[in-house]
Amino acid sequence: MSMSISTHRCRGCQASSLQEIIDLGNMPLAGGFLSDRASIATEQRYPLKTHVCTQCSLIQIVDPVDPNILFKDYSFASSTIGQLVSHFEQYAKWLAERYHPRQVVEIGCNDGVLLAPLEKLGIKAAGVDISENITDLARKRGLDVVTGYFDQRVTAALRDRLGPVDVVTGSNCFPHNADPGAILEAAKIVLSPEGYLCLEVMYAGDLLTQLQWDTLYHEHLTFYSLGTLARLLARFGFHVVHAERLPMHGGSLRVVASQVQRAATAELSEVRAYEESIRLNDPATWVDFGARCKRKIEIVRSTFEDLARGHRIWAYGAAGKATLWLNACGMDYLEAMVDASPLRAGKLMPGVHTPIVFPEEMKKHPPDYVFITAWNYAPGIASKESWFQGIWATPLPELRFF
Ligand SMILES: [Zn+2]
Repeated sequence: MSMSISTHRCRGCQASSLQEIIDLGNMPLAGGFLSDRASIATEQRYPLKTHVCTQCSLIQIVDPVDPNILFKDYSFASSTIGQLVSHFEQYAKWLAERYHPRQVVEIGCNDGVLLAPLEKLGIKAAGVDISENITDLARKRGLDVVTGYFDQRVTAALRDRLGPVDVVTGSNCFPHNADPGAILEAAKIVLSPEGYLCLEVMYAGDLLTQLQWDTLYHEHLTFYSLGTLARLLARFGFHVVHAERLPMHGGSLRVVASQVQRAATAELSEVRAYEESIRLNDPATWVDFGARCKRKIEIVRSTFEDLARGHRIWAYGAAGKATLWLNACGMDYLEAMVDASPLRAGKLMPGVHTPIVFPEEMKKHPPDYVFITAWNYAPGIASKESWFQGIWATPLPELRFF
């Protein structure tokens, strides 16, 4: 089996006109933590190149890693993350109040984090997900879940069992898929002709304005804007009727579409105007973004390399973005990575193999500098470790020491 599938057509509009904006070289998987030093010998790296489509401006990582490697034994159960649980409770309510669905089907249902609150509201909910260990968790909660790909075979079986449903929804799984057209075709089979397709995706607008290059990793294949997603949906007969921005995952976008023409909401026009104001759907914007990210990486790389000659440096927060910073900046000199999660402490960081330790260890051997790789949580981390007398550093939006 080949490890990656090569594609040179735009995932959104099918044009063969992709322009590279960032090449991070061969990178380990962002969540590929190693359990011990013996695993280093078999560690895999995959090319990580981000492109913009010069026709529709869709941001995409080409050469996707086989989803069986990425998601089969996924270690990310949504219901263990408080923020996500409350997001999906709110989302279930929002769907219920706005569209009054009797039945909902979810693409990429994870452990049932949305199915459960929908069922609580009296809505019949079924989900599909490829991850075996995670769907087992959902089934144990008594939820209606199919393990497999969201394809036409699976949705035809769902339609036979449930009839056409009022809403098909997917949160974040959609941008993780290399063939979004196949998902849309499959969705049409189980969705009633008057039904709503509701998608939540990581938003290209936040990627751009916050220079979040550290979210460009193998799992995150596609960063949609309203403009690029609307264009893709139109190819499959869907009209966008609503859009709104969400704070989830550092910035997301919720888009609702229908196969019948309906009045658009005021929020949809607001998002559209915002995208025009920042020239989000202009390929030149993204070429410039790539250049600015490269400069940012270079500043962090050279600054810490100089510091490492005379100082002891640790990092804090073994999230996916940490893998990107440490590897893109060649930070093999870090003494340790601090993380409170028992799923990560005791393991080694992908690529650079920095040992991950619990926060207590930092108290025993306080370093001179701590690089907060989970920079979006920096205020919380610094106040939790207020005993620390050394210097904290965050890489984004600007490299800052405090
Ligand atoms: Zn395109």
